[in-house]
Amino acid sequence: MSKKEAMAEIVNEISICTKCRLHQSRTNPVPGEGSLDSSLMFIGEAPGAREDATGRPFVGAAGKLLTQLIESIGLSRDEVYITNVVKCRPPQNRDPQADEIYTCLPYLRRQINIIRPRVIVTLGRHATKTVFELAGIPFGSMTRVHGEEFRGRIDGKYVTIIPTYHPAAALYNPNLRRTLVEDFQIIKEALGKEYKGPLDHFIS
Ligand code: SF4
Repeated sequence: MSKKEAMAEIVNEISICTKCRLHQSRTNPVPGEGSLDSSLMFIGEAPGAREDATGRPFVGAAGKLLTQLIESIGLSRDEVYITNVVKCRPPQNRDPQADEIYTCLPYLRRQINIIRPRVIVTLGRHATKTVFELAGIPFGSMTRVHGEEFRGRIDGKYVTIIPTYHPAAALYNPNLRRTLVEDFQIIKEALGKEYKGPLDHFIS
């Protein structure tokens, strides 16, 4: 099965998914979008109102900022893959609950396995905590981990994980916006690095 076919299968499953309570209040599920061959994958927390209305990730004000940040490191949105930990909008934009994240997680895992990015950028605390758990990395706090590179294995393959803040948190906070700009420079550097160590393709 090609990457395209495998992702289409996931998108189909998500479109009719009723595995957790979030399906009751969603308008559209938001599976994710972008290049399946990208070295860079962004993982946010959950869709918001505009994402729920359109079925596309990061299309509101926070999405506009994310797009600018991606462009600030010389890439376009089409060249990366963007998704969230949970694919349906939590009511009133509340945080996704642990059981909802756990139930939805197999979709994200399969997406990571199809794309096999070299670098995963987690946006915000929930995404960071979830992806760190998948990679077996202990999570402390965003203040301690943002803008740092972590090497972990997800389903046997090495990946670099760089946490940063969720763009929504930086919309009205110029200091946090500056931090995001700096963290994106770390992402740019990480994409250009050759990592020494076990050869990923020998690890099943
Ligand atoms: S959030 Fe995930 S598990 Fe829950 S209904 Fe939506 S797609 Fe299914």
